[in-house]
Amino acid sequence: MGELRVSESEKSLVDTYGRVHRDMRVSLTDRCSLRCNYCMPADFADWIPGDHLLTTDEMMLVLDVATEMGIDQVRLTGGEPLLRPDVVDVVRRIYALPHAPKISLTSNGLRLPKLAKELADAGLERVNISLDTLDPQRFKEMTHRDRFHDVIAGIEAAKEAGLLPVKVNAVLLRGVNDDEAVPLLKHALANDWKLRFIEQMPLDAGGLWARPKMVTADEIMEMLSAEFELTPVPARGSAPAEEFYVDGGPATVGIIASVSRPFCAACDRLRLTADGQFRNCLFAQDETDVRALLRDSSLSEDEIRAGIASTLAKVTKAKLPGHGINDPTFIQPARPMSAIGG
Ligand code: SAM
Ligand code: SF4
Repeated sequence: MGELRVSESEKSLVDTYGRVHRDMRVSLTDRCSLRCNYCMPADFADWIPGDHLLTTDEMMLVLDVATEMGIDQVRLTGGEPLLRPDVVDVVRRIYALPHAPKISLTSNGLRLPKLAKELADAGLERVNISLDTLDPQRFKEMTHRDRFHDVIAGIEAAKEAGLLPVKVNAVLLRGVNDDEAVPLLKHALANDWKLRFIEQMPLDAGGLWARPKMVTADEIMEMLSAEFELTPVPARGSAPAEEFYVDGGPATVGIIASVSRPFCAACDRLRLTADGQFRNCLFAQDETDVRALLRDSSLSEDEIRAGIASTLAKVTKAKLPGHGINDPTFIQPARPMSAIGG
């Protein structure tokens, strides 16, 4: 691939609030093998048309430019990223970029028994796996699929492949699984999982989110504190999770309190959707198309690269100071988390 031609001012992804962007979340597909009730309705069918999905070559061109501009971490997500048939090749090619970023993955874990080793060999460093319950029947009710044991096998496969530490993400829903904060943490401690609770966010395709029903970080802290001594881990940096040592450490638990304790001031994340849209925030109302530019046959590769760079710089500059979930005027983005890339 040719040398990137961008002006100095576009080279670093700094927004108007001084936030330097180093992390790109890349959605590999909006499809999924589960239907978690806080994410996708069981009968969801509003999929991205196949010809809108970026090819792997197109994605690599974007990532080549983005990594040259300062992105040094890429997290693959979706939908379920492991449903992309060439996901191992995607990892291998990102790892081979001239400015190779660290590569991580957020997954429901179902395909990890098959793919964990190959992904690790291709350059994947870490995985986050989502699991909201330890009860197989409840899992089936929450996800509309009877696959609890496959997720557990996926977590084990990730550990065996050395994708460490294995982080496990859990969303607690009131009246559904909010009695599992302590059991999940006990299980995580016993099995060397790094557990993080995520507050439910207004990003579901079904529009079910309601503030009074959300289990807050304060509530989670209260439940955990009844059983464990939690002490804050200092130096959070740009990480979304607030980390706490459990009973003096070294084990920790994290809470991602996107709604009740927003961490926008330190956000360093940009997003690329599977259909080639840049987003500067999960909750942004706008996204900026890069697919048409990638497919413009009247442009040379150098011109396309310069276009990607200036688009990404503009998207970064346009980032708002915060997500605004707590403003009375907040409107949920038109696209759900599964299409944006969680
Ligand atoms: N399918 C993969 C998975 O489940 O890990 C990756 C995509 S999923 C959208 C990424 C993360 O977002 C998961 O940990 C999931 O639990 C979380 N998530 C999805 N919808 C959410 C919502 N409305 N609020 C909070 N977290 C959500
Ligand atoms: Fe699929 Fe992940 Fe959404 Fe669950 S949270 S439905 S696994 S995309």
